[in-house]
Amino acid sequence: MKISGLKTAVVEGNFDWTFVRIETDGGICGLGECFFAPGLTAMLRSLEPLLIGEDPRDVNRLFRKLQLATSGAGSVAGIIYNAISGIDAALWDILGQSLGVPIYRLLGGRYRDSVRIYADCHGGEALESLDGVLRSRRPSWLPDNEAHAAKDYYASHEEDPAELPEKYGKRALAMKKLGFTALKFDLDVPGTEGFDPYNRCLTNRSVDHMVALIGAVRDAVGYEIDVAVDCHWRYSVSDIIKVAHALEPFRLLWLEDPVPPESVEALSAVTSKVRIPIATGENLFLFQGFQEILRTHVVGIATPDLQKVGGLSIAMQIAQFADINTIPIAPHNISSPVGTLTSAHFCAAIPNFLVLEFHASDVPFWNDLVDGIPKPIIQNGMIQLLDKPGLGVTLNEEVARKYARKGEPFFE
Ligand code: MG
Repeated sequence: MKISGLKTAVVEGNFDWTFVRIETDGGICGLGECFFAPGLTAMLRSLEPLLIGEDPRDVNRLFRKLQLATSGAGSVAGIIYNAISGIDAALWDILGQSLGVPIYRLLGGRYRDSVRIYADCHGGEALESLDGVLRSRRPSWLPDNEAHAAKDYYASHEEDPAELPEKYGKRALAMKKLGFTALKFDLDVPGTEGFDPYNRCLTNRSVDHMVALIGAVRDAVGYEIDVAVDCHWRYSVSDIIKVAHALEPFRLLWLEDPVPPESVEALSAVTSKVRIPIATGENLFLFQGFQEILRTHVVGIATPDLQKVGGLSIAMQIAQFADINTIPIAPHNISSPVGTLTSAHFCAAIPNFLVLEFHASDVPFWNDLVDGIPKPIIQNGMIQLLDKPGLGVTLNEEVARKYARKGEPFFE
């Protein structure tokens, strides 16, 4: 079997869901998804010649080939791995199809038949649609006659912060009613800014507002539901420690990305002084990105993103090393069903899986994007794994084309 082509398409979900299709001379096609990045389609297209004529079943060797080829451009980590992760996923899909077994079987078999999902609840209200550099845009699924005002997601001053706790509570209850047993909310929302947007410092008012937000969530859903919070790398060590101490009574599942990701020492300082498990990993690449923080327990929960970390073999290495260090894995995920199901195969195949993210409860066509799986894909907060070859689903191209990003190729 030989690779005959690599095609791409971008669908405007709440993020740019970027798909890779790898075609073979044997008629089998593999499907993978990449985490968005500026220039991603061009990167994917530039990697195609490295794959043409290769046996797609040599997944790990092809990963190494792409790694060696791109290292000359300085890609020891970073967004080239968003591209490579999507290619890697498509190759695993081909390998599974060629052998007639699901991807999780290739990874050593499953620990569980279904995968627990948590609902990312953003800032209480629906996260809209963001482009590759996080600018708000008109959601592709909005009817033509419906008005839309673009806003800066992280610095909206239109929202009344006083209304947010109630919105958080309502959102939490709605997700609980859908059957989710774990939720995540943002802490960096209107009303929690400090005096200066750049110095990473908070005020007592900011901390009090964060306490009010999470308090409203607990009031709405009680303590049986797991609740995590996300800081998006925004704060100083000293101030996020104040926040964490104030939030400790809420018995959170984790506190995500409290400080900028560049400094392991800063993260370590937070971890050593708070009693909430610290989670990080969505912006780390390859095994090497996780090695030190896992070995030294700077992180309590690791959150690799399968659509950018480097692919399934890399994610398995991270999970195995995390397991040796007794650290659970809760994969970050903002994907369409394609990337979500790639992640679900991985989650089934590792012992130390905690919960997998779902970020698209507001995108009305999320379930419609794939065929070959019972709908809704997430039922009672779980994804049931199928005993089908490869990824187990195919892209519904009619739906994908309807929401395709203009100006991007569509599998051409
Ligand atoms: Mg996050």
